This record gives sequence, structure tokens and C-alpha cells, in this order.
Amino acid sequence: MASRETECEAILEAVDRIAARIASEKKHLTDLDSAIGDADHGANLDRGFKAVVETLEQKEDADAQDLVKTVGTTLISEVGGASGPLYGGSCMHASQELEAGITAETTVAFAEAYLEKLQDRGGAEVGDKTMVDALTPAVHTYKKSIEVDDLPPLEALAKAVDAAERGVEYTVPLKASKGRASYLGWRSVGHQDPGATSTLLVLEELLATAEEYLDGDVDVDATSPTIPDEEPEEVEE
Ligand code: ADP
Ligand code: MG
Repeated sequence: MASRETECEAILEAVDRIAARIASEKKHLTDLDSAIGDADHGANLDRGFKAVVETLEQKEDADAQDLVKTVGTTLISEVGGASGPLYGGSCMHASQELEAGITAETTVAFAEAYLEKLQDRGGAEVGDKTMVDALTPAVHTYKKSIEVDDLPPLEALAKAVDAAERGVEYTVPLKASKGRASYLGWRSVGHQDPGATSTLLVLEELLATAEEYLDGDVDVDATSPTIPDEEPEEVEE
């Protein structure tokens, strides 16, 4: 595990990156939400993550759990709409998994707890055309990559981002069954879900942050197939 200072720095870096990315894609997210919602998703998240950056800058001597919990409470109070309590509540709830800091194990537990809370609150399943469609494949891929395939966290996260990207594409042909988009019924078909899209942006920025912080730590050899030291002995004919 990294030191408390490094973890804190990495979380602040992640939050800065996410806020900047959401700001630069605010119009894109709003355009997506204007097609099947009320055109506020970009503005909602932009306001929320700007407030998160400001709030975290004022926090001193906090640990990972405390910082991530504050991200959640700030999002709940600033974002509003459907996405505020979903993003914020999940983050706040899952933060307790980071009590022991940021490790492969605790981040898997965080991801699972986040998804569980999201579905608990919103009641959406895969296929309802929501952020759950991006997050579910990402969380399952991350968990399997770490626990079954024994991949380094950075590789596992990269695979999770790929999975989320496919999840976002998968929302396009779906008919929405949850949230405002569901009011449109079949007219929601053919449009990409804004919340799934913002979820992918957040995951991409988490990956970019992890690339910066885990670069030196990733032991590529640990997962390479074992290469024998010597050529196998030739079999006599
Ligand atoms: P609002 O719909 O209140 O305007 P936003 O525009 O900020 O809120 O967020 C819309 C996004 O929220 C949708 O694109 C969808 O991904 C997500 N969403 C809405 N309802 C749910 C739900 N019940 N479960 C999961 N995600 C949901
Ligand atoms: Mg909206």
C-alpha cells in the first residue's frame, strides 16, 4: 500500500482530472441529456465536481476513506437530479471499504459496494439504459481481472474501462426503463445514455490517474507466462 500522503495526493489528482474532463464534456453530456432527458446532466455534474475540488482543497490531514466520503456528500448536496444521489450516495457508502487504504483488494470491494448501492437506490438493472449499463461490466471485469486472472491493478482497470465503453455503446439501442428517459418509451431508442457516458468519463480519468501513480509499481513479469531458463532437452530419436 502507498503512504497516506501519496494516496491523498492521488485522490486529489483524480478529482481534479474528473472535474476538468466533465467541464470539457459538459456540452456533450447536456446534448445527450437533451435528447432523452431535460438537458441538465452536464451542468449538474460540472457543478458537483467543481464543488468537490473546492471542498477537498480545504481538507487537511484526511485519509482515503474520509476524502472519498466527502466526495460523496458533496455530490449529494450539489448535483441534484437523479444522478446526484446516485453518484454521491454510492460513493459515500462505498468509501467505508477504503478504511485500510487503497489496494487491489480494497478497490475491488469499493467497486462492488458502489454498484450495489447504485442498484439499491435506483432499482435499475442491466438493460434499463442507465449508468448501471456502463458500471456493471466495468465492476465485474475489474473484480475478475484482479481475483481470477491475477492481473496488476493498472491492467485490471484498463480492462474495466474497455468494458464500460462497450456498456455505453450497448445503451444506444435500448428502450429506457428508469429515470426521465423512460417517459419517452420507444422514442428513447437510438440515443446514448448520458449517465452511462459520464460514468465512462470518470473511469477514464481514474485510469489516467492510476497510470501516473502505479506506473513504477506494476510488476509486468508477475503476470507473464513463465519462460523456461533453458531450452528443453532434445529428445533422442
Ligand atoms: P435527471 O434525470 O434528474 O435530470 P441527470 O440528468 O443528472 O438527472 O442524470 C440522468 C442520468 O441518471 C441518466 O442518464 C441515467 O444514467 C441516470 N439514472 C436515472 N435514473 C436512474 C436509476 N433509477 N438508476 C440508475 N441510473 C439512473
Ligand atoms: Mg437530466
